[in-house]
Amino acid sequence: MSTVSFDNIKNAFAYKSNADLQRAYMLFKAINNRSLVSLMEPATSFAMKIGLPINFAIKGTIFKQFVGGETIEECNATIQKLYENKVGSILDYSVEGQETEEAFEQTTQAILGTVKKATNNPAISFCVFKVTGFATHDILAKQSAGMQLNPDEQQQWQRVQNRVDRICGTAAQNNVRIFIDAEESWIQQAIDDMANAMMQKYNTQHPIVYNTIQFYRTDRLEFLKQSHQHAINHNYILGIKLVRGAYMEKERKRAMDFEYTCPIQPNKESSDRDYDAGLKFCIEHINTIAICAGTHNEQSSLLLTQLMEKNNIPHQHPHIWFSQLLGMSDHISFNLAVAGYNVCKYVPYGPVKSVMPYLFRRAKENTSMAGQMSRELSLIVNEIKRRKS
Ligand SMILES: Cc1cc2nc3c(=O)[nH]c(=O)nc-3n(C[C@H](O)[C@H](O)[C@H](O)COP(=O)(O)OP(=O)(O)OC[C@H]3O[C@@H](n4cnc5c(N)ncnc54)[C@H](O)[C@@H]3O)c2cc1C
Repeated sequence: MSTVSFDNIKNAFAYKSNADLQRAYMLFKAINNRSLVSLMEPATSFAMKIGLPINFAIKGTIFKQFVGGETIEECNATIQKLYENKVGSILDYSVEGQETEEAFEQTTQAILGTVKKATNNPAISFCVFKVTGFATHDILAKQSAGMQLNPDEQQQWQRVQNRVDRICGTAAQNNVRIFIDAEESWIQQAIDDMANAMMQKYNTQHPIVYNTIQFYRTDRLEFLKQSHQHAINHNYILGIKLVRGAYMEKERKRAMDFEYTCPIQPNKESSDRDYDAGLKFCIEHINTIAICAGTHNEQSSLLLTQLMEKNNIPHQHPHIWFSQLLGMSDHISFNLAVAGYNVCKYVPYGPVKSVMPYLFRRAKENTSMAGQMSRELSLIVNEIKRRKS
């Protein structure tokens, strides 16, 4: 049995000053309110559109909680603070929704900048990118569906593949591990194919490239097993970030609109079951699979520690990492870190306006039913009480 406990809120908030805690309290209290959060997105977009100077307000509140800064340099203080508390950072350039080749190239340069920053830097455990940061949804959907590309599209597709190879190749050269995020199911096949090709090319000695598997999909446990078999057949280490998945509503809506069988599990229990089965499978093959459990779920995080214990795997095994997002589930991250496990947090960064979609998603995730407190808010309230007493 594992001895780690997530109840120690002193560990969880050790890196936060009283002022930080008060600010977090005000913020989580505000976003605990469902109606307020539903107004937030249209109100902020409107204010930005008519040029109201709201950047300052955003930077001092929600941005400060969930984002490292507008630039890599602005993230330094956060990276340092996390590292002092034995938690690594994953620099995540969070600019979304770009559409021009010029913007795609800028995003590629920014990601290469994170690889450079991570080189020989023990405070940065991984880098990460989303393929949609430098590829259109359209080209990824066509490629995923096996559709014929016209000559223009073929060139466009070649540029996407080149960017992925440039980023993964640079990461490999500098011995920097890198995650490829998972996205919507209708563009995922193209992403999986590239991720597998990159792992085959760069994971021959040790894990550099990690694909992401979303267990809220009914077919992903099987996909994990197939990916592992492929890695064994081709002599490379499979790198996998295990997540439940972030696009459930969008997936369900599209499946309904286009009348196909929804790829998402019928209920939360099925997602949990497959996620945990995925963890078990990986631990059984830990010599040939390197994993990162990207989750805020206490049970799954605990299960992973128990599986490690049962199989006599040391806490700091280089093939096993736990990861949460900055500003969330600190009780999981820091208690695991204190117990000696490998832990890292996503540290998103980018201009205020560009990271707003990311911030709206975090706000929505932390609302709760009327009259109840979200988990984050109740943890903060308890820590404030503990410090007062
Ligand atoms: C480090 C890190 C990296 C991540 N990277 C990615 C990524 O690359 N791609 C991505 O898509 N997401 C990613 N996520 C987000 C992740 O997929 C989840 O949305 C989020 O973390 C919540 O799930 P959870 O495991 O923390 O646990 P929980 O809070 O226990 O589970 C919530 C999740 O369960 C699933 N779920 C909820 N209700 C149902 C239902 N009725 N039926 C079926 N399933 C249900 C959904 O996936 C939901 O997000 C990442 C998260 C972290 C912490």
